[in-house]
Amino acid sequence: MPNIVVVGAQWGDEGKGKVVDVLASCVDVTVRYQGGNNAGHTVVVGSEKFVLQSIPSGILHPGCRCVIGCGVVIDPASLIEEMESLVQRGVSLDGNLYISKNAHLIMPYHPALDRASESQAGKRRIGTTGKGVGPAYVDKTARIGIRMADLLDEEIFREKLEYNLQQKNRLLREIYDAETFTVDAILHPYRRYAGWLAPYITDTPLLLSRWIDAGASVLFEGAQGTLLDVDHGTYPFITSSSATAGGASTGTGVPPTKINGVLGIAKAYLTRVGGGPFPSELHGPMADLLRAQGKEFGSVTGRPRRCGWVDAVALRYAARLNGFDSIALTKLDVLDACETVKVCVGYRYGGDVLTDFPGEERIWHETEPVYEELSGWQTSTHGIREYAELPTKAREYLDRLSELCGVPFGLVSTGPMRDDTMLMPDSVLASWYPSLRGGWPPR
Ligand code: GDP
Repeated sequence: MPNIVVVGAQWGDEGKGKVVDVLASCVDVTVRYQGGNNAGHTVVVGSEKFVLQSIPSGILHPGCRCVIGCGVVIDPASLIEEMESLVQRGVSLDGNLYISKNAHLIMPYHPALDRASESQAGKRRIGTTGKGVGPAYVDKTARIGIRMADLLDEEIFREKLEYNLQQKNRLLREIYDAETFTVDAILHPYRRYAGWLAPYITDTPLLLSRWIDAGASVLFEGAQGTLLDVDHGTYPFITSSSATAGGASTGTGVPPTKINGVLGIAKAYLTRVGGGPFPSELHGPMADLLRAQGKEFGSVTGRPRRCGWVDAVALRYAARLNGFDSIALTKLDVLDACETVKVCVGYRYGGDVLTDFPGEERIWHETEPVYEELSGWQTSTHGIREYAELPTKAREYLDRLSELCGVPFGLVSTGPMRDDTMLMPDSVLASWYPSLRGGWPPR
């Protein structure tokens, strides 16, 4: 059975939650490999809506084991809340959820530092969710982070906490003029969290290796997206982890030789949350239309998302970096009302038209998008499950976009529900998951 990485091809919010949920019905294990509770994967099952922040979207399938990998940073209070809310809604976690003992903890001073540094950043504000994810990764790299295994060892936890607080309190007080923390105020709740989470904390690379050797099929679930990757994204307006496919290996301990393919998830238009460059951004009525039709408001923060036309330059870049074998294109139905649809095919800068995604901040900010314009289809595609049933203009849009990014589409999503899903029968994606060939539910 293949082990496949699912990666956001844009700035996140591509609809990864829905696609992973659909594919999870065909796999044995789903693993989150990076990010924290700043992600919000939305999955709609019947009349119920689930927003998953740290737990892989596969948790909604009883037979699917879910792993939170070592590349993820975990806020224990938020994770416990997410677990409790799933249990209350009838989702079973016992024997289904495993947490890496090497995953780093988000500590109470991390959100405080996140908010304090953002409030002083002026026009270089990143627009983080303020949940402390970035500062937790800073500590991980600085080798002062506290890991899940430490949470289970009271003595080491206290020692690391005391050491950290000496530094963090000085920083909070003297640089940011912000509130400080005492050891006891953190120690007590974290002892409770330790008791709660202990049954789930384990050596997940070892488990994954055993499962894979026994023939299990694993789906690696990325959070955020390629253009937010710490190395390859629009730095510094990025997230602090490796969202691209390479992160699946380091963030889980599964070697690259055990990974068989990469699926990119892209939205039929483009959105971005927070600050940073967005060459094909729209303002005015068209942006409002996309935001309203696509319900483009943050699933964690409720913030309105910036909206624009799909960017084939950026998609080609994502395809190259991640090695996409196939793309799942989501939210085609959101474009149904558009008279024309545009695709950004180049960036005009300094008298040239660039067709390779640039790495310089000045170019991102000053570039002018070059568009190719196609006719809209102005009829509903919502819920269509067969390519042949799509309006001709919608098919032309899909074919042209796939040609421009150089990757065939394996799946097209035409609504938020599981069965609003079209699988291309001859695609590599269909060969990975043949039971989905007849549509949802899998056979
Ligand atoms: P993620 O972080 O990549 O999972 O993205 P979000 O949580 O922002 O999910 C995107 C939103 O779009 C969710 O509310 C989904 O239910 C919804 N969605 C996913 N696919 C489709 C689709 O094809 N059409 C429509 N209209 N909504 C979709």
